[in-house]
Amino acid sequence: MNTEMNLRFTESKARDTGLPGTDPEHEPKAGNEPPRASRRRRFLVTGGGGFVGSFLCERLLDAEHDVLCVDNFLTGQIENLKSVIARPGFRLLHHDITHPLHVEVDGIFNLACPASPVHYQSDPIRTTKINVQGALNVLGLAKRLHVPVLQASTSEVYGDPAVHPQAESYWGHVNPTGPRACYDEGKRCAETLFFDYHRQHGVSIKVARIFNTYGPRMSQHDGRVVSNMIVQALTGQDLTVYGDGQQTRSFCYVDDLVRGLMLLMETPGHVTGPINLGNPVEFTVHDLAHKVIKKTGSRCRVRFMPLPQDDPTRRRPDIAQAREILGWQPMVGLDAGLDRTIRYFDRVLKGGEPQRGDVASKASWLAVPLLDTA
Ligand code: NAD
Ligand code: UDP
Repeated sequence: MNTEMNLRFTESKARDTGLPGTDPEHEPKAGNEPPRASRRRRFLVTGGGGFVGSFLCERLLDAEHDVLCVDNFLTGQIENLKSVIARPGFRLLHHDITHPLHVEVDGIFNLACPASPVHYQSDPIRTTKINVQGALNVLGLAKRLHVPVLQASTSEVYGDPAVHPQAESYWGHVNPTGPRACYDEGKRCAETLFFDYHRQHGVSIKVARIFNTYGPRMSQHDGRVVSNMIVQALTGQDLTVYGDGQQTRSFCYVDDLVRGLMLLMETPGHVTGPINLGNPVEFTVHDLAHKVIKKTGSRCRVRFMPLPQDDPTRRRPDIAQAREILGWQPMVGLDAGLDRTIRYFDRVLKGGEPQRGDVASKASWLAVPLLDTA
């Protein structure tokens, strides 16, 4: 373990990346802005190179905070950071959170974990380890620094729910031995650790249960339903619907989620969660496929494929607590969010927006020096 790492963050701010500094899909609206900083603080964002984490880094900087982004790019992409990497106050540390981290920050957002079923099931033992050992490491850090720590938990803690919609009081219906368990039980164990650190050591914790979130910067290869279907429609492939497509999900646009995470971090110490963050409007997967086909003007059809084991049949958040405690609710409906996401993937596929593995991406990004502590 390199104990010098806190002194040697990547000096990204001095670098001229020559890349645009704004995200064309971020359209702030009245009432939709992230909270402003009451004082400038430095936040650690683990998993900051991922889909959600990269937007969180950006909004924290917008709110005049400093950001230390920690990622090992297991599923994230450095390309996601192109709008922040050259901004003052941003630092990037290449580090695996299953190893302890010795840094000085004022608050921690713990997002590091593969989130797509394809990714988290590809190395399930590692997924459990990231969830459990990663939680122990960020909690240990929060305890030493006396700072709040927010956990990106998930609606998957409810498993294939027997209660609908899902409120935080529901304990869930999870198969502990199935292929999703590495993620579901890993996140459940992380929640347990968060609450035990809170009770046993007085650590200030914030547990957000995130429901399906989508938007620009999802990896085109991560296998989640929104990115899969948009990429399929834009590349002339039939849209894969697993099972009969009657299973439901409730899709939250990434800007809404990030605003919710930032509001939760700002709550007083007694607010621990768990608190659901998601869009309570429910769609079947089949509805989603037809929306994507219509919006892209594609001639593709739907191709039915086998339903993966333990795939939850329905999912919709009860967000009464988020409304009451955070004054939060989603502002971006599925139509507007899909339009922005389709525009993003259109740019990706035309080579105008780099993603991991692209030739253009390599030319732009392999020069970025990272401090590797693993
Ligand atoms: P993502 O895969 O795009 O991002 C995860 C990030 O964590 C990636 O950048 C990855 O490289 C990094 N990471 C993984 N293991 C790491 C490790 N050991 N050390 C350091 N970094 C590591 O996924 P996302 O959709 O942005 O999800 C972010 C968080 O939100 C995850 O914790 C996920 O479980 C949670 N979440 C997301 C959703 C959603 O729909 N997007 C839903 C529920 C929960
Ligand atoms: N799904 C689908 N086609 C795809 C990818 C996913 O029908 O190409 C389904 C999947 O079986 C699930 C839902 O879409 O019922 C959401 O899947 P995703 O992987 O996005 O997230 P999950 O909610 O399962 O974690």
